[in-house]
Formats: sequence, C-alpha cells, structure tokens
Amino acid sequence: MGAYIDFSGRNVLVTGASRGIGRDVAKELLGMGANVIAHSRSGPGALRDATGKVGGSLKYVAADLSTREGVERVASFVEGCCTELHGLVNNAGIYSGLALGEETFDNWDLTVNTNLRAPFFLARLLRERLRAGKGSVVNISSIMGLSASAGAYPYQASKSALIHITRALSLELAPDVRVNCVAPGFIMTDMNKEGWNDASFRKEVEERTPLGRWGRPEDISSAVSFLLSERASFITGETILVDGGKSLF
Ligand code: NAD
Repeated sequence: MGAYIDFSGRNVLVTGASRGIGRDVAKELLGMGANVIAHSRSGPGALRDATGKVGGSLKYVAADLSTREGVERVASFVEGCCTELHGLVNNAGIYSGLALGEETFDNWDLTVNTNLRAPFFLARLLRERLRAGKGSVVNISSIMGLSASAGAYPYQASKSALIHITRALSLELAPDVRVNCVAPGFIMTDMNKEGWNDASFRKEVEERTPLGRWGRPEDISSAVSFLLSERASFITGETILVDGGKSLF
C-alpha cells in the first residue's frame, strides 16, 4: 500500500468513511500518515475496527449529509480541528434504482442533496481552509454519471452534475486548490451487494468488463490517494474512470 506517498501532517476529511470505499480511503490515508477526519452518518462503524495500525491520527464526526444542518456541522467540526485542510474526499452517497414511474419527490431530494448538494457545500464552506492548505478535493462520482441508462434518475443526475461541478470548482479554486473526480465502475461494497450476490449479474458484469472482474474498494482508494497527493500537482478539473475498462464500449 502506497509507501511512496507520505501524508504526514496532512489533514484530510473523508465523508462516508464508516464502510465501503470511504472506509478504505480513510484506512489508506491513515497508513500514509494523514490526520483523517472521518465523517459518517451515525458513528465510526467498521472503520474503528479496521484501524489497528495507523500512522496518522483519526477523529470522527457524525452527521446526516442530506440535510443543511448536517453539512454545516461537518464543516464546523473541521474548522475547529484545523486551520489548514489538505484534502477533502466527498465520498458519501446513496443509490436507488427506481424506475421512472416509481420515482418520488422525496427520493429525488434525498439523493441529490446527499450526492451533489453536500459535496458542493462542503467545498464552499471549507474553501478558505482548503486554500490555506493548498488542498485537493476529490469527488466520488460514478460511471453512471457519464453513460446513460433507464432508471436511477436522481443518482445519474447527481453523479453527472458532480463531474461538471468538479470542473467549475476547479476553475474557481485554482491555483491554490485542485478539484478532481473519480468515477468508479462496479465495486464490491454494500451499495450493490444485491448485484454481486446474484451469480448471473455478477458474471454478466465480469464479462462486460475488459479487465474481467468487479472492482475492489482499494482500486478506488489508490486513485483517490494519487489525486490528493503532490504526484497529481498538475491535474485539476479531471475525472478519472476506475472501471476496469467497462465504459469503453
Ligand atoms: P456504501 O453504501 O458502502 O457507503 C456509502 C457511505 O455513504 C456510507 O458510509 C453511508 O453511511 C454514507 N452515506 C449515505 N448517505 C448518507 C447521508 N445522508 N449522510 C451521511 N452519510 C451518508 O457505498 P460505496 O460503494 O462505498 O459508495 C461510496 C461512493 O462511491 C458513493 O458516492 C457511491 O455513489 C460511489 N460509487 C460506488 C460504486 C459501487 O459500485 N459501489 C460505483 C460508483 C460510484
């Protein structure tokens, strides 16, 4: 795991860090020496058990990011922890695969507020801390933000808009702060466990993925760490697909 990147003394907020991709990102950053502020909806969850040997320090903040109060609470917590923020990983997100006829106003608001409004306002509220730290923002979008399919409309809309907002923010916050996106393909986390627990769907994804497998959380964390690090110091406004080549055809 990435010994070539040293995040010692770097303060990084990771949202949705209790499980899945966010937990792996937090673990990897801790191993690289970062001071991680781990956000989750209700508590540290599995992250606490997964951090036996850590290089950096770990703080927790709980908040519901679908609400304005939750977003403001996380931003205030970060402001209380550090004067410089070196990284913001907007990872928390929800998926619902409702068909057009099933979609509701409430589900639209919940999904778009969590997946799009929260990342935008965290960047907005923490922009001075990020500027002070010459920081890097990484937003977690999805291949569903780039290629269209029927259903999951608020998810597709939020992930697509997140890619565009990434580009707009990268202009606003340059030259001090870089803003990039990672767009995962099919990753084996709780978010789509119904999919990878279904043998035929699991095989179908493998067959439609040139690299022949589902992604793992660490496939995403390594891209996130790279974008957060000085190794990506000339990259901003970019979206990196991490999907085993699935969206090539
Ligand atoms: P996950 O469901 O395991 O984790 C999602 C995290 O977001 C959890 O920690 C959850 O508590 C948090 N979260 C959700 N709603 C929240 C809210 N209202 N307030 C606070 N926290 C909230 O899923 P994951 O696969 O680890 O997903 C992480 C990110 O990656 C998401 O943004 C997701 O859209 C994106 N993504 C995942 C896949 C995949 O195949 N797993 C593919 C593309 C993109």
